[in-house]
Amino acid sequence: MNIPQSSFPRVIIIGGGFGGIALAKKLAKKDVQVVLLDKHNYHNFQPLLYQVSTGGLEPDSIAYPIRKVLQGYPNFYFRLAEVLEVDTSMRRLQTNIGEIQYDYLVVATGSRTNFFGNKNIAEKGMAMKTIPQSLNLRSLILENFEQALLTDDLHERDALMNFVIVGGGPTGVELAGALAEIKKGILPKDYPDLDTRRAQINLVQGGSRILPAMSAVASTKAERFLERLGVNVWKGIRVTDYDGKLVSTNTDTSFEACTLVWAAGVQAVCLDGLDSKDFLCRGNRLRVNEFHQVDGFEEIFAIGDVAQMESEPYPHGHPMMAQPAIQQGQNLGENLVRMIEGKDLKPFIYRDKGSMATVGRNKAVVDLPRFKFQGVFAWFVWMFVHLYFLIGFRNRVVVFINWVYNYIRFDREARLIIRPFKKQYQVNGKDKVTI
Ligand SMILES: Cc1cc2nc3c(=O)[nH]c(=O)nc-3n(C[C@H](O)[C@H](O)[C@H](O)COP(=O)(O)OP(=O)(O)OC[C@H]3O[C@@H](n4cnc5c(N)ncnc54)[C@H](O)[C@@H]3O)c2cc1C
Repeated sequence: MNIPQSSFPRVIIIGGGFGGIALAKKLAKKDVQVVLLDKHNYHNFQPLLYQVSTGGLEPDSIAYPIRKVLQGYPNFYFRLAEVLEVDTSMRRLQTNIGEIQYDYLVVATGSRTNFFGNKNIAEKGMAMKTIPQSLNLRSLILENFEQALLTDDLHERDALMNFVIVGGGPTGVELAGALAEIKKGILPKDYPDLDTRRAQINLVQGGSRILPAMSAVASTKAERFLERLGVNVWKGIRVTDYDGKLVSTNTDTSFEACTLVWAAGVQAVCLDGLDSKDFLCRGNRLRVNEFHQVDGFEEIFAIGDVAQMESEPYPHGHPMMAQPAIQQGQNLGENLVRMIEGKDLKPFIYRDKGSMATVGRNKAVVDLPRFKFQGVFAWFVWMFVHLYFLIGFRNRVVVFINWVYNYIRFDREARLIIRPFKKQYQVNGKDKVTI
C-alpha cells in the first residue's frame, strides 16, 4: 500500500463515516500513524440522501472528499480500499489493494439496508443508503413519470405514479414528505398533460405509530403533517412481498406500485474474520465494552452503527445514528492516546442531544432532552442542525442556497435523469422495463 514504517504505533480506521472521521480528527497531530481505509473516497452525509433522491440537492453537496478532511494532518494516510478480511492472530488486513499490518484497528464500517432475507424485495425494491442508490431512485421516480405519459393502460399509469415507502422512521417520513411536495408543487407544472392528482404516496409502518423512536407527540404531529400533504399513512401492516409492481402485505391491503422504497431496517457491515458468535450481536453488530474494545480483544475497537455497547439505559446498544458515532469516535480518539501513554481509559457516556425529522418543505418535529416542539420553528432548527453538521464550507453554502431557492420557488431543480436506472415491472403478465 506504499505506507512507510513509522516509529509511532499504526492505527487503522476502516470507514470514513461519521465515526471514522470524528476519530481521525481527534488523532490529528498525535504521536500515532493513522491509516484510514474506505471503499469510497468521500464522506456521505446520509441524513440528506432523501433530498438527492427527490431532486432537491445534487449529490456533490452532501458528499465530501475524505482526503480533504485529512489535509494538513501529519502521519495520516488515506487509501481507497475495500477491506475484505481481518486476520486477528497476525494483526493484518486483507483488502482489494493488498495487505496491511496494524497495531490498533478501529472498525467503523457503518450499516447497510436489511431486507430481513426477503429476496424479492431486495431485488425489486429500492434502498437509500448510499449516493449511487439515491441517484438510482431519483432516476426511477422521473423515468416512471415519463413512462406514465406514454402508456394508455390506466392501471399501469397509476402503478407508475404510485409510491410505497416501507418504514415509518425518519427516513421514510422525510422521503414521503418530499414526494408529496413534488406531487403538489412540481408535477402539475412539469406534466400538464398527465393527471398527476392520481399519484399516491403510501407510507407503510409495521408498528402502531410512525417515528417510534421519538415522543408520542412528535409521532402524532408528523402523521398529521403528512396527511395534510396528502400522504396515505398505513400503520400496523407489514409488507411481505413485491414482484416489481404488486406490493403484498400481511393483511388484505395490497398496492400496485412500480416504486417501492425499503426504509424498514439496517444491519451492521461486519467483516470476515470478525464474525465470531462470541461477539456478534443481533443485526451483525460487534459487542464492545465501555472503551469500545471488541469482546476478547485489547487492540480491536468498533464505533458507530457497527458497535453494540450494552449499558443500563441502552441494553441493545446506542441508536444507529450520527451522534453516537461522532461521540464514540471522539471518545476513542482520546482513549487511544491515553492507552499509548499508559494512562487510564475514560468510559464512554452517551450524551443524547435529541432527535428530529422534517416533514415537507417547512414543518419538522424536534425532541430535545428538555423541550419538544413541532412546526415551522422546528423546521428552522432542523435546517440549522443539518447545516452545522454537514462537512465542508462549500457544501453548507450550496445546500443553504438550494434550500432558500427551493423554498421561494417551490422547486427542485436537480430532477435530472443523468444515469438512467433500468427496472423490470410487469403489465398484464408481460415484462416491461423503465426507460
Ligand atoms: C437515509 C438515511 C437517513 C439518516 N438520517 C439520519 C438522521 O437524520 N440523523 C441521524 O443521526 N442519523 C441518520 N442516519 C443514520 C446515520 O447516517 C448513521 O447512523 C451514521 O452514518 C453511522 O455512522 P458510522 O460512522 O457508523 O457509519 P457510516 O457513516 O455509514 O460510514 C461507514 C463507512 O465505512 C465504509 N465502509 C464500509 N465497509 C467497508 C469496507 N469493507 N471497506 C472499506 N470501507 C468500508 C463506507 O464506505 C462508509 O464510508 C440516516 C441514515 C440513512 C441511511
